[in-house]
Amino acid sequence: MKAIVAGPLVAPAHEYRGHPERPSRVEAVAAGIDDLDLGSDRVDAPERAATFDELVRVHDPSYLRKLAAFCEEGGGKVDPDTYATPISWDAACAAAGAGLAAVDALANGRADVAFVAARPPGHHALANRAMGFCLINNVAVAAAQLADAGERVLIVDWDVHHGNGTEALFWDDDRICYVSTHQDRIYPGTGAASDTGGTAAPGLTVNIPLPAGATGDVMERALDDVVSPVVERFAPTWVLVSAGFDAHRDDPLASLELSSGDYARMATIVRGYAPNAGRLAVFLEGGYDLDALRASTAATLGALVGASSPAEAPTSGGPGIEAVARARSVHAAA
Ligand SMILES: [Zn+2]
Repeated sequence: MKAIVAGPLVAPAHEYRGHPERPSRVEAVAAGIDDLDLGSDRVDAPERAATFDELVRVHDPSYLRKLAAFCEEGGGKVDPDTYATPISWDAACAAAGAGLAAVDALANGRADVAFVAARPPGHHALANRAMGFCLINNVAVAAAQLADAGERVLIVDWDVHHGNGTEALFWDDDRICYVSTHQDRIYPGTGAASDTGGTAAPGLTVNIPLPAGATGDVMERALDDVVSPVVERFAPTWVLVSAGFDAHRDDPLASLELSSGDYARMATIVRGYAPNAGRLAVFLEGGYDLDALRASTAATLGALVGASSPAEAPTSGGPGIEAVARARSVHAAA
């Protein structure tokens, strides 16, 4: 199986002193991809920046102009968690462009899956607001382009934080199904199981909040019991993954207990949601422990392309089965 690798793998210096969302993250991801030794099965997508017209599919033009001007004037803190520097506008456009380049390369039949190794991440970014380390919503920009071309897009967000930005952007959009597994009661505080989409897209938002300590077996149950039936009904033509690796047990920002081997199993399940080869793209979101990020990247992409990687053993025995059952009952009734 061939894999597209997209992104500025040599990260632009979008960086703020002491901030966990830092350039070495993408270096760890690049090392994880290199660990797979894909050889000629690796296809690097050309780097390109998303255009203004591509970004306004999901963001307000006035927000984009303000963000670009803020960066040009030197940047600073956008909110207590989120920063921008003089080069952050370019970095954000490059990250969004990497997603578009990956999708284009897949659509042109160049590979079976794509891994978008770009930062800053995107899933917290709203139409008119940066938040949670995110400036532009990379996965949403790609999903909107696909939906405008007539595709039905499933977004699976397994970052440990709820992707409030992506949820809000597609809340009432019946062309896009948004699924999130996340740790309950941490940033940004959204993502209740009872939040299931707007009147124009009922049941097409799927939230599965999990308690601290949840392990890989719980995550698999969430996918099998809650997500798989929804996906079957929705019948996506494309699958995009908001792949945060901050649900790993070594991550400093959250308290789920996944191993890299769990990510491999989740990737295998999610691959089954794509109707054909060449319709699955994985987007880097969070993940702040560099070793976990490297190992989880290799495990995820390795599982998708059938390359072996020395992943950690899957985990089990943590809490959360009741939370999965609650989400299941919400969507069984939907
Ligand atoms: Zn996260």
